[in-house]
Amino acid sequence: MQNQWAKPDSEIGDAFDQLVYQSRLIGADTSLVVWGGGNTSIKSTVEDFRGRPTEAMIIKGSGSDLKTIEKKHFPSLKMEDVLPLYTLDAMTDDDMVAYLGQCMLNPKDPRPSIETLLHAFLPFHSVVHSHADAIVALTNTRDAETLLQEVYGDTVSIVEYIRPGFKLSKLVGKTVQSNPNSGGVVLMNHGLFTWGDTSREAYDRHIDLVAKADHFSQEKRKAKTVFTLAEKTQFSSDARGKIAASLAPVIRGAVSELHDVVLRYDDNSDILEFVNSNQGNSLSQIGPATPDHTLQTKIKPLWLELSNPEDIVNSSDQIRESVKAYALEYSQWYEKHTDHVHPMLDPYPRLILVPGLGMWSTGKDARAALIAGDIYHHTIQVIKSAEGMSTYVSLTNQDAYDVEYWPMELYKLTIAPPERSFSRKVALVTGAANGIGKVIAQRLAAEGAHVVVTDLNSNSATALAEEINGQHGYNRALPLPMDVTNHAQIVEAFHQIRLFYGGLDIVISNAGIAPAGIVDELPISDWQNALDINTTGHFLVSQEAVRLMKQQEQGGSIVFIGTKNVPAPGGGFGAYSVSKAAQVQLARVLAIENGEFGIRCNVVNPDAIFQGSNLWSTEMREQRAKAHGISVDGLEEFYRQRNLLKTYVTSDDVANTVLFLASEQSSKTTGAMIPIDGGLRDAFPR
Ligand code: ZN
Repeated sequence: MQNQWAKPDSEIGDAFDQLVYQSRLIGADTSLVVWGGGNTSIKSTVEDFRGRPTEAMIIKGSGSDLKTIEKKHFPSLKMEDVLPLYTLDAMTDDDMVAYLGQCMLNPKDPRPSIETLLHAFLPFHSVVHSHADAIVALTNTRDAETLLQEVYGDTVSIVEYIRPGFKLSKLVGKTVQSNPNSGGVVLMNHGLFTWGDTSREAYDRHIDLVAKADHFSQEKRKAKTVFTLAEKTQFSSDARGKIAASLAPVIRGAVSELHDVVLRYDDNSDILEFVNSNQGNSLSQIGPATPDHTLQTKIKPLWLELSNPEDIVNSSDQIRESVKAYALEYSQWYEKHTDHVHPMLDPYPRLILVPGLGMWSTGKDARAALIAGDIYHHTIQVIKSAEGMSTYVSLTNQDAYDVEYWPMELYKLTIAPPERSFSRKVALVTGAANGIGKVIAQRLAAEGAHVVVTDLNSNSATALAEEINGQHGYNRALPLPMDVTNHAQIVEAFHQIRLFYGGLDIVISNAGIAPAGIVDELPISDWQNALDINTTGHFLVSQEAVRLMKQQEQGGSIVFIGTKNVPAPGGGFGAYSVSKAAQVQLARVLAIENGEFGIRCNVVNPDAIFQGSNLWSTEMREQRAKAHGISVDGLEEFYRQRNLLKTYVTSDDVANTVLFLASEQSSKTTGAMIPIDGGLRDAFPR
């Protein structure tokens, strides 16, 4: 634990600048806070909306992250309105939040943190609060009081565990006011508060107290090996990846029984040390370290001991049984502690620990899965250091229940915007770098899907994935190179998808080419190329997709991008029309073979999509114009005039139908072909 304050205060700026600087230092150290945890404040004179000097507290807003925090993330509250609350004996969370909303100097600022009153009731300029691993490790031991005394003597105050809210705030306020010389407050099973006359002073004290705890625990741990290696099969990194990729869809399917989730696989060395230890099983089942951890990871992970991880069939059965048993146990725990005000949340684990392989974390999206996983790294550190000093203990069952079913947190869920139609889903698009494929990938992402962006041109795929991640958030898109004629590359891409998201729900098989030329002049290489890409390419991708979806046992939707040339072939387009017709027949066979598994396969037949398409090369335009006896410039208009609706067909039109077929709205449709061509009599079914 190093003090990172590197600049004199005068160089940083005014008191507010110093608060931002301090907050980012705290946020940058994940052993202090992770993912939105912790909070900081100053009390200062600011101007109200009429320019009058007003005593205010500037405090971190709810939901912002300290490591990237900016001034706009800090609401200001009028102290004259906040402080009278100290005279009350009790206040509900709802009343407190409503009241604090009235104290804001600018109602448009973000909502203040739930721990606002803890800061307000401490009569100091700067207040810092973290959930430091080293502090939590001390408080989460059987003999915490003795150890804290050993580390700090009487220099800090200690407050019993209470869920954050008015009661805890008042207790901390009273404790500090009766011990004005203490340098900080340790909150049991929660974290640390320090303060100072400047942001730097509060920070320095914070780091100093955490460093003392850290040093103490390291000294104690020297004499003790906490995790001893169990006598079990160890796998090389490659073998681990291979087994994990084989099993991930089974896990994803099993934990998605009620709500789909995205997985994150993690075999970092600290995770492996824990899951491969003799102690991991029992320690992992004791319970969460802090309320913060509980919200993300539930009361405990699923410990999944596979008798032989390399036996995929047997392991799959074991996974399904263990997940079911976890959900049953969770529902019993819920029944035991609930007051029946709130219905049971998803009973499936957020963390799955597998000896030999590592950990899977789950979440409604890639970001949520990452947060749960990140937090467990810290839980392991806390357990390790607590066990090094003494015996790890956690929140009680009732306390853990009261945090997971905390009305404040459940309320946040009710006001969150409704989930978009493809949220929690993973979709693969081939030929996604341009034209129809690109529009479909963008539209799927806009509707909440995680999108695997694949293309022959891996630079363009990467650029599109970056664009999607920038717009829709962390790891929404995964770019992978994919030549659909390259079997090995497709297998490798599916390996990556299995590890990255844990599975796949939707495949848009789009990559294709359109060589032109009459049959008696067509080079055999053009013919073969069309079959390789337009037929075999779809076969190879759907083969891997179906294998994965069957393991997942959650159905799936495959959509092939066909063409109007299937029902109505054009002269000079033999290689294209034949290879696309074979592709459609493949879609029907896939629909027949996989209906019993809930896997649907449908085709869309667009016509004459010019926008952004690689199919319409200059050569192709010239060739088609010649075939129709018109000028190249008149080509788009020619296609418009030949359909019944006299309309241009765009990539967005195709995407509309593709998204419909990918979605639950078409759940009763498989083996179908839908034209998107403005209406062509030639293409009507006969
Ligand atoms: Zn806290």
